[in-house]
Amino acid sequence: MKNPQPNPRHAALYRAYWRIALVLLTSLTLLLPACATNPVTGRSQLMLVSESAAISASRQAYVEMLTPARKEGRIDSDPRTKRRVQAITQRVVAQAVRYRPETADWDWEMSVIDEPDTINAFAMAGGKMAIYTGIIDQLELTDDELAQIIGHEIAHALSAHSAEKMSVALASNIALATFAATGERSDVALTGAALAAIIAVQLPNSRQMEAEADRIGIELAARAGYHPDAAASLWSKMAAKASTRQPVFLSTHPAPQSRQRDLAALASQMQPLYEQARRGPLPTHPVR
Ligand SMILES: [Zn+2]
Repeated sequence: MKNPQPNPRHAALYRAYWRIALVLLTSLTLLLPACATNPVTGRSQLMLVSESAAISASRQAYVEMLTPARKEGRIDSDPRTKRRVQAITQRVVAQAVRYRPETADWDWEMSVIDEPDTINAFAMAGGKMAIYTGIIDQLELTDDELAQIIGHEIAHALSAHSAEKMSVALASNIALATFAATGERSDVALTGAALAAIIAVQLPNSRQMEAEADRIGIELAARAGYHPDAAASLWSKMAAKASTRQPVFLSTHPAPQSRQRDLAALASQMQPLYEQARRGPLPTHPVR
């Protein structure tokens, strides 16, 4: 009686199992030390990418993302809007730096992108931010409301949310897959990390991240002398807009169910901070 020949398909499967096991084992050893504590709230975060790596990748990614609009003369093209946005950002960043003094060394930057149809704003690691003219003009934002958006974005940067989302992008191999898909284009000379930074901007924030950014953002704005009631009025304007056309902002900043209620409760807590800020001088921090 002949010994049964090993089935080549089984052998291939067996090798595949080993490969998967090896990948899982490697991922686990990568993931284990990869949890970090949120620098502001103390929440535990998945961190495959260190904040400093996220900052340097974001610097490259930010330039890359703004290049098409810059070539068309749509960055900071209206000096009045630029001055208005910059003045508010400088005041709110001064408060952010009090939360995390090491961020005084960040190269904070806020660009205004002239795109009237886009209701959006974003922040990358290291304080690289942008706001679209669509959100300012279509929602007819007051300075207090604009400060809430800016405070919210600064809070994302301050809480290392970009590094967290880059980690998610890398962990789920989105960055690598996209890199493979765009690899043939010779004009794409981004590192995997910079690509992950761009993808991270387009990934939705988790509800936890949103709640953190709301809470820290309204406080930064209040300490910078911007009325905390403007947070609720901003989000009700956003909700009204969403009933006709979904703002891009809502796809990356998903609303926690309790957002309006939480912001209203926070506003009353922030009132004394706001009143105190209005009495004293309002410091600023340089922002490009
Ligand atoms: Zn957000």
